[in-house]
Amino acid sequence: MGTPSNIAAKTTASSGEDYARTMAHGERALNLMKQLRTPAIPRNYELLFAFTTSTNKELCNALRKALETDSCLTEEAAERLYQTFLTKGDISDKVDEVGTQVSQEMTDIMSVIEAASERTGSYGESLQGMNAKLSGIDSPQQLKTVLAELFETTNDMAEYNKLLEKRLADSKSQIDELQMNLELTRVESFTDELTGLTNRKRFDQSIELEMSEAEESADPLCLMMLDIDHFKSFNDTHGHQTGDQVIRLVAHTLKTNVKGRDCAARYGGEEFAIILPKTKLSAAITLAEQIRVAVKTKELVKKSTNESLGHVTMSIGISSYRLGETIPEFIERADVCLYAAKEAGRDNVKSETDMRDREVATSAA
Ligand code: GH3
Ligand code: MG
Ligand code: MG
Repeated sequence: MGTPSNIAAKTTASSGEDYARTMAHGERALNLMKQLRTPAIPRNYELLFAFTTSTNKELCNALRKALETDSCLTEEAAERLYQTFLTKGDISDKVDEVGTQVSQEMTDIMSVIEAASERTGSYGESLQGMNAKLSGIDSPQQLKTVLAELFETTNDMAEYNKLLEKRLADSKSQIDELQMNLELTRVESFTDELTGLTNRKRFDQSIELEMSEAEESADPLCLMMLDIDHFKSFNDTHGHQTGDQVIRLVAHTLKTNVKGRDCAARYGGEEFAIILPKTKLSAAITLAEQIRVAVKTKELVKKSTNESLGHVTMSIGISSYRLGETIPEFIERADVCLYAAKEAGRDNVKSETDMRDREVATSAA
């Protein structure tokens, strides 16, 4: 009788220990956050918490190295470490978890089916036994007894079948749910958490795929690199959290301006990329202009205070795929155009056509 209360006491003690231990780690993570002057956003807290618990040695070493190099936790380093050590782990843990649940469900259902087939076998044997009894019947009373027995056995079997049916239906809906979880996890694994756009990992796969398709079909393919102008000073003025909201708003504008197979991705920080399959350079330039204007005309308003934060602008560079070139070459050419758009005063679109014009103008001078 003493067992349940002992278990309860033990559980309380161990969750008390957990509480104290996790609070100590939490405090150390917050202190580190202050020391490193790192913005207090959940991602940074998660990183530093993982660092203080020392459970992930690789993460600890990589973070130490980043701190040695920069002496503070930069935005880029935090994002990179988070993507490498925390996001991926989360996803694969979830996939493992769903996999284990599926295999558990399969084992359970196999044993149910095995039991059902044994039961069906013994029902068949009972029927055969009754068949023998029926052939030896010589009175209505005996017939009544055998029929009652037959009725009972059949009734049992029908009940059992009902149970089996319910168990199979439950199992089907559980497997459907697991399948949906797996699909959600798959989508999550290639989605940028802040913006809901395609993440960098998926972008890397998509560009490779689209380049090989363009190689085969000889259809045009364009790449747009987009970067928010003077975003550092926006963050410095309005804070990182508000900056995040602007990144989300820009991402939303990109999403609403692309269609079909176009792939809008968060390339990193405040930089985005759009892959445009089957799109000529002239059409890509038109789209880039449309996006540039859509972003700059949106007045940013802080919802909590209704305060106007003005506008942000974007610079955009576009390259058009050349058969046989490598991924870095294709991206680099879009980056060169982006740099030219920045140089031209920002809030600008530059493409390879402008680069060629520039080369011609330089050589003519
Ligand atoms: P430029 O016009 O030359 O692009 O100037 P910039 O200030 O935008 O460029 P720089 O690369 O110097 O700074 C980018 C800044 O973007 C640094 C960082 O404060 C901010 N940033 C990067 N990623 C994020 C993010 O996820 N959230 C927020 N709020 N800010 C970010
Ligand atoms: Mg920028
Ligand atoms: Mg940038």
